[in-house]
Amino acid sequence: MKLKKILCVLTAAFMAMTLLAGCGGGGDKKEADSKAKSEMKVMRVAGSIDFAPFEFQDETKKEYQGFDMDLIRAIGKEMGVKVEISNITFDGLIPALEAGNIDAIISGMTINDARKKKVLFSDAYYESGLTMVVASDNSTIKTFKDLEGKKVAVQIGTTSAAEVRKIKDVKITELDTPSICFMELMAGNVDAVVNDRPVNDYFISRGFDGVKALPERLTAEEYGIAINKKNPELQKKVNAALKKLREKGEYQKIFDKWFAAKKVK
Ligand code: GLN
Repeated sequence: MKLKKILCVLTAAFMAMTLLAGCGGGGDKKEADSKAKSEMKVMRVAGSIDFAPFEFQDETKKEYQGFDMDLIRAIGKEMGVKVEISNITFDGLIPALEAGNIDAIISGMTINDARKKKVLFSDAYYESGLTMVVASDNSTIKTFKDLEGKKVAVQIGTTSAAEVRKIKDVKITELDTPSICFMELMAGNVDAVVNDRPVNDYFISRGFDGVKALPERLTAEEYGIAINKKNPELQKKVNAALKKLREKGEYQKIFDKWFAAKKVK
């Protein structure tokens, strides 16, 4: 009898607590914060808009183009928020996120441990890796090992920069965008460019003569959407939206638009 009474009191207390929590918990700061975030109407996203076919500007079109751009807009739609995209140089993206100037980054950004110390990542949304591009008539550079002592251009703040720095006696030039890296190569100022495979392939497929991409893949990498560490709520929502888009076949549609009919892994 006594035990039953205690149980009754406990249940009543628990119910009261749940009710209170449901009402907003009487001004609990943490809860107010997460509530504000869950009511986000505009998601401020940034990318380094010079990474075709993931993000680039097409003069004939008003909006930024590319796989990432279509994907983040579809994610926003799924979440019921408006997506605002701004262009920030690659090495400025994580600082902007940490400062709270943006809510998320989509920029062909590789998920890695160094970055995980500073940001949250969504589930992986694309499999990538690094390859190198050299002059078509270059017959001395065949593998990454051959870059020892050579001049190599990379985009600043990227996984390419980190990998190339490990090569013995390499002379590394770190530039703002892959386009500038390719220009340096075509001008003969560097021996090679190391950069993400799909971007190298796309660049060459656009008819840039005189350069070739080598087949060796230096790393296997996966892209994720970066989110502020203080906003796990947004990470959950982005992942849920990404999952929905995959289930609905929307992800595959966007993928096919930019990468022909290659199968999604
Ligand atoms: N995937 C590479 C990285 O995360 C390059 C990304 C980019 O240049 N946009 O470092």
